[in-house]
Amino acid sequence: MSLLVIGSLALDTIETPFGKKEYTLGGSATFVSTSASYFTNKLSIVGIVGYDFPLEEIEFLKSRNIDTSGLEISNEHKTFHWHGKYHTDMNNRDSLKTELNAFAHFNPVLSDYHRNSEIVCLGNVDPVIQLKIINQLESPKLVMADTMNFWIEGKPDDVFKMLKKVNIIVVNDSEARLLTNENNLIKAGKAILNLGPKVAIIKKGEHGAVLISKDTIFTVPAFPLEEVFDPTGAGDSFAGGFIGWISKSNNFDANNLKKAVIWGTVMASLSVQGFSLEGIRNINQNIIENRYNNLLQIMDYN
Ligand code: AMP
Repeated sequence: MSLLVIGSLALDTIETPFGKKEYTLGGSATFVSTSASYFTNKLSIVGIVGYDFPLEEIEFLKSRNIDTSGLEISNEHKTFHWHGKYHTDMNNRDSLKTELNAFAHFNPVLSDYHRNSEIVCLGNVDPVIQLKIINQLESPKLVMADTMNFWIEGKPDDVFKMLKKVNIIVVNDSEARLLTNENNLIKAGKAILNLGPKVAIIKKGEHGAVLISKDTIFTVPAFPLEEVFDPTGAGDSFAGGFIGWISKSNNFDANNLKKAVIWGTVMASLSVQGFSLEGIRNINQNIIENRYNNLLQIMDYN
């Protein structure tokens, strides 16, 4: 099924206990689409970059069979820049800078082809942009969205409007708590279902992820890794694996959503093994399938 990914394309500055990289490729749409590209080649992105965005990175996205016809290049503004610094335990990070640059001027108008996408993943981006995209869609079969503290705190009303219009929401634990004022994550997941989505997926970093719907609570552990280099993009790589699997399998039933959580977990675990996009930039089907089988073995108690 055709998959449309919307989100940020960024130049990130990242500091972890293992080092620092400046102005390296990042952004929610970059991670989601790269991750999903290992599952489907009916994949398009819509986003904006600035005049300083390296053209070879657009070539990279094309080399992953991603349709970049919906990618706008601003001649006036720089690319979105995010500077994140991780704490020693790497479960927490501070956003030192969020410079929207070209993103502050983004007003996406979808082509007919993109309007007719069957599955849409609204990566983490301004909820006003997410709503603009939703309003242009013809009849999507599934809309999934991500958001983050920056938008929940900055534009809560728009985030709540957006939530009413999506089928699945993927957030991390702190975002789920912030959205619902519930500390307990199962209660938070159930409270999210009252805000619109039929399915809430809450990511818990090294503690895995939980999927909550009216009839299902399904938890998956994170793949146990001894070395995590950079958690940036783990959540987006998860979302890409999840939605990539759904779009490849063309199946929305509860069991397949559980499988998708496992594929998401696999992609997140590969992503954190390298700096920025390096963990998933240059992998192959064998690496992904081996990780999937290893994760199943770890979960198997028979
Ligand atoms: P994740 O680690 O999965 O939360 O995703 C990290 C990516 O999100 C980075 O590559 C950033 O460029 C991007 N990002 C950070 N803050 C924002 C924001 N406020 N809006 C959109 N994208 C963001």
